[in-house]
Amino acid sequence: MKKYILGIDQGTTSTRAILFSKDKKVILKVQKEVKCFFPKEGYVEQDAIEIYLSVLNVINEIITRTNISIDEIEALGITNQRETTVIWDKTSGMPLYNVIVWQSNESLPYCEKWEKYKDLIHKKTGLILNPYFSASKIAYILDNIKDGHLKANNGELLFGTIDSWLIYKLTNGKVHATDITNASRTMLFNINTLTYDEELLDLFNIPKNILPQVYECNHYFGDAIINGKSIKITGVCGDQQSSLFGQLCFNKGSSKVTYGTGCFMLTNIGDIPIYSKNGLLTTIAWKINDSIKYAFEGSVFMGGAIIQWLRDELKLLNEAKESEDYANCVSDDLGVYIVPAFSGLGAPYWDNDCKGAIFGLTRGTTKAHLIRASLNSIAYQVKDIIDVMEKECRKNIKILKVDGGATNNNYLMKFQSDILNKTIILPECVETTALGAIFIAGLGSGYFKNLEEIKKLEVQDKIFKPTMDETTRNKLINNWNKAIKATRLYK
Ligand code: ADP
Repeated sequence: MKKYILGIDQGTTSTRAILFSKDKKVILKVQKEVKCFFPKEGYVEQDAIEIYLSVLNVINEIITRTNISIDEIEALGITNQRETTVIWDKTSGMPLYNVIVWQSNESLPYCEKWEKYKDLIHKKTGLILNPYFSASKIAYILDNIKDGHLKANNGELLFGTIDSWLIYKLTNGKVHATDITNASRTMLFNINTLTYDEELLDLFNIPKNILPQVYECNHYFGDAIINGKSIKITGVCGDQQSSLFGQLCFNKGSSKVTYGTGCFMLTNIGDIPIYSKNGLLTTIAWKINDSIKYAFEGSVFMGGAIIQWLRDELKLLNEAKESEDYANCVSDDLGVYIVPAFSGLGAPYWDNDCKGAIFGLTRGTTKAHLIRASLNSIAYQVKDIIDVMEKECRKNIKILKVDGGATNNNYLMKFQSDILNKTIILPECVETTALGAIFIAGLGSGYFKNLEEIKKLEVQDKIFKPTMDETTRNKLINNWNKAIKATRLYK
């Protein structure tokens, strides 16, 4: 009797597994850390074998702790850190270079070389030319392994993002495939034709034969072999898209924000791609049962990280969660604004050169005001992106679904709701990324018949409704805008 669906969330710092039962409950979550190496300033690498072993490890831990048999698992869903690049030998199945992680900038010189193609790249892929995406990482690895181009052209090498690597290893090298959301982050995939783009492959000198076959998210990818038994892989999706799905943002205009170290915002923009003039990415949200959805994506570099900075550098906090009490112990912001442009400002400003700033200090400013201003800065940055998303997709975002570590902060969530003048919903199961992969795998295996069935599973934990009056809101936003303007003047 098949009773369970297993979800794997392979993230940058850890691999998680969630066992989901057919009576629609999360049975168990387990997690295993994975290491990052920093061989030089700005370089971030990982070990592909360690990543694969961490996946086997969490699956085995789930099985041991719950005492279930592999035969009882109907389907496996995989979601993963996106863009992160692996190249391996087709014959031995062994990686030929360290994994280059999405955050790594070692392939920056390639992007500088490709600067003249940036408009073409945006039009074809929906992405902004950046070492973040896989294309320049592939070019870099091919140049840095012995006979890289020769072997690639001879069909001796395979490339994959983490999903492909895991599918390949779990199927004992039988399947070299990826899903369309991960493909859309390689900067090689044309989001209009839904195929790898020959012109870009030519410009970047990347041979097509190393690329994985692209399928829709709920395709039957193959059988994962675990301890000699098999589980069908029927769901694959990149992590941010998976969390959009796990948050049930199925309709045009529905949005989610993940408040982690940075904040990631995705809005479902429907079945036709829209191109942003303000630096938002256009990406494939998912393709399921032949139906495609696109999304706008924007990110804030310093989200929860500003709270880490208060804790670790300024020593104003022992733990991130104390920030809520401090923020609540003062009655207003006392005119203090922090613009956390520690590594420049992302969308919609795209100002790499500006630095962080604090405004409005007086003799009455206390530690609590600084902490409150830091939390507020997260909400203002998210608001700036939501404003652009609404304008560019010509749709009013009424409700915002949220997840991630900083959503534990009730002050932040209430302030976010006030400053946006929107309702915010926090789901009961905050593991929305793994949940997305589980739902997609369930659609692939036939356990879920359609999206409506999945929608019925929604359990909301907290709802934040705006209560701030318009005059106050406008005044605060106006002050924030002045702070941003002043920050950008100081260079
Ligand atoms: P990631 O997946 O990026 O590692 P998480 O979703 O685990 O991030 O969230 C961790 C981030 O959230 C940290 O930057 C931390 O400072 C912040 N954070 C966690 N709890 C709180 C809280 N109660 N209030 C404010 N920030 C918090």
